[in-house]
Amino acid sequence: MSKFAVTCIAHGESLPQKTIDQIAKEIIETSKQEISIKTVKKLSTRATDIFVEVASTVSQKDFKNELTSVIESHDNVDVIVSANNEYRQAKKLFVFDMDSTLIYQEVIELIAAYAGVEEQVHEITERAMNNELDFKESLRERVKLLKGLQIDTLYDEIKQKLEITKGVPELCKFLHEKNCKLAVLSGGFIQFASFIKDQLNLDFCKANLLEVDAEGKLTGKTLGTTVDGQCKSETLLELCDNYKVPVEASCMVGDGGNDLPAMATAGFGIAWNAKPKVQKAAPCKLNSKSMTDILYILGYTDDEIYHRQ
Ligand SMILES: [Mg+2]
Repeated sequence: MSKFAVTCIAHGESLPQKTIDQIAKEIIETSKQEISIKTVKKLSTRATDIFVEVASTVSQKDFKNELTSVIESHDNVDVIVSANNEYRQAKKLFVFDMDSTLIYQEVIELIAAYAGVEEQVHEITERAMNNELDFKESLRERVKLLKGLQIDTLYDEIKQKLEITKGVPELCKFLHEKNCKLAVLSGGFIQFASFIKDQLNLDFCKANLLEVDAEGKLTGKTLGTTVDGQCKSETLLELCDNYKVPVEASCMVGDGGNDLPAMATAGFGIAWNAKPKVQKAAPCKLNSKSMTDILYILGYTDDEIYHRQ
């Protein structure tokens, strides 16, 4: 037997009862398994858990794939399949991507604007994030376009432009209170990732290092190991090891193709307002406006999230 929680999160103000009933009906009709709906639990006016039992043993991935048509047929509601086990709520490590995840922007595009190559860089970023281009190659091409930019005097100005995604500070605070370790692994650059780490009081950060010459200008290259999809995945495992966290109790959140390997490695993965290809390949998608909605995916209610003492 397998147990799942199917969390429905509306993007609007409320999740109507008729939508919950409709999704529950679709789950029963769509699944090829012998299946029963045990209970329905309201998490907030916008979110509800539907608890499902499947007679056979089936993985989260297979059950989620079975329900693809249900997941894709509701534009303004995210339908998220989680294994309903001890690790669902008791996450002990959250790893976040930075650009377009913890912050709204892509830092490399902010830098590119100063070098007058924003459009070219944006085009390459789009292709890389949609998984159409190898991340390492895309980073190499983009950094090359920045060659000659006097970066040393721009760091503070660019940091001031970084805008933290709605709900992120509250989410991080809540998770820390639950003794969860928090990390940012970024395919962007260390100066900015460590700044965001400090802003959010995270426990760890890793990112790429831009090479700067003696005059403070970018050489068009990075130094050291590239933080790509594979590196994020390996680092997630290292963090589990260092913090003595079972891999099942880890979660990866990101928006890009280069976040998919770590999502597959982690106990769970969340594609945050991601490109369509990434949404499909990830363990789940969340396209709402506030990142505190992740706490609904873990099964917390509004009372537990907002009214705790
Ligand atoms: Mg990103």
